[in-house]
Amino acid sequence: MDTTKKNNSVYSKSDTGKVVLADEEWKKILPQDVFYIARMKGTERPGTSKYDKFSETGTYYCAACGNGLFKSDTKFESGCGWPSFYEPVSKSSIIYTPDNTHGMQRTEVQCGRCKAHLGHVFDDGPPPTGLRYCINGVVLDFEKAKEAEKSFKEKPQQ
Ligand SMILES: [Zn+2]
Repeated sequence: MDTTKKNNSVYSKSDTGKVVLADEEWKKILPQDVFYIARMKGTERPGTSKYDKFSETGTYYCAACGNGLFKSDTKFESGCGWPSFYEPVSKSSIIYTPDNTHGMQRTEVQCGRCKAHLGHVFDDGPPPTGLRYCINGVVLDFEKAKEAEKSFKEKPQQ
């Protein structure tokens, strides 16, 4: 297990049970930057995420609870400065909430398991969904696909 998760007993990539913790509890178990985004609905500075310009094959998980959120094959280069995806892993992996703060009408996306703030979804994405999930890289954990799966998916000319 990742050493940054050693105090985080709710982190699991297999348990789908909902996680409900008070902010004081989250504060104890999450790294400061993850806590700020996930629980305080913060936003990382654009272009600062290591996942912004990143194209490895694998799966992105919620950094707070380990819930599977996005697959790398739905990631695209939006140029907005944050990791962007057009579709979540499944319908239940994400919760949608209207967000009318900052004088804008937006839709906030939260983790379907622990309700961590992830980012927002916009309707200017590419096909097939036309959606752009604009996600803070700080709240994403990436796990590389197994080597066999990766070579199977890679096209010969790449
Ligand atoms: Zn979560």
